Amino acid sequence: MDQYRVTSAAGFSLAQFSPGDTSAFEGSRDEAKKHLKNLRKELAELQFLLWAEDKHKLLVVLQAMDTGGKDGTIRNVFKGVNPQGVWVTNFKAPTAEELAHDYLWRVHPHAPGNGEIVVFNRSHYEDVLVVRVLDLVPSQRWGRRYDHIVDFEQRLVDEGTTIVKIYLNISKDEQAGRLQARLDDPERNWKFNAGDLDHRKLWDEYMAAYEDAIARTATATAPWYVVPANAKWHRNIVVTQILVDTLKALDMKFPEPEAGLDTIVIE
Ligand code: ATP
Ligand code: MG
Repeated sequence: MDQYRVTSAAGFSLAQFSPGDTSAFEGSRDEAKKHLKNLRKELAELQFLLWAEDKHKLLVVLQAMDTGGKDGTIRNVFKGVNPQGVWVTNFKAPTAEELAHDYLWRVHPHAPGNGEIVVFNRSHYEDVLVVRVLDLVPSQRWGRRYDHIVDFEQRLVDEGTTIVKIYLNISKDEQAGRLQARLDDPERNWKFNAGDLDHRKLWDEYMAAYEDAIARTATATAPWYVVPANAKWHRNIVVTQILVDTLKALDMKFPEPEAGLDTIVIE
């Protein structure tokens, strides 16, 4: 997964990452299905261990353009994990109360506790993405946020959180196809949001904002992964593999059992 990981601004540009790349898995589609199933099983086992050990916390930040596949990724990757211990938090447009506070105020309470995995479906990054593109606050204000975000995430890391940030990288053409599918398929009409077209018109501005956000907040301890996301089957494999690798690296162990269990007789 190293090819997708970004840990600093050095030499980074989004153009180096192809949304249509499927090179991380080279077998047939049937083999890909089996592979994903096995990876999911591994993820479920690791999550069980994370929960049992009750020591580490995992934060997964998911960002993407509209139709980028955040929902589908969550559905496919976390199928099979114990729902007790995995939370998804959606960050929509802020409420009046949230807007009355600093932009991290609504985020911190959702950070994971020991043994937990929390997925941010959109996140504090919206405050340097949509906010920047739509000019929702002056540039002097959002311009300072990259540093706040690095500090905020480092604080979480220093206190025992592992952070993985994933950008689902789709192409503008792929988005066109997915929006069209939402129009064509009556069962997906509900997902069509005419407002998405306004954001689509600002595609290049969004790409510039994503590029800066990733470059300025990618660190060794809170890396970004730019995941090719045009091919959903491949995206699912890559995201699951990233999480499996990340959890494995924690070198977790089941808690020591109480002494003398072998002498206990249950009557
Ligand atoms: P779906 O796949 O269901 O469309 P979504 O994440 O796009 O999921 P929506 O309710 O369509 O959910 O959109 C949420 C909107 O809220 C997005 O356009 C996003 O940019 C916006 N948003 C999120 N955080 C902020 C923020 N801090 N400031 C302004 N807008 C925000
Ligand atoms: Mg939307």
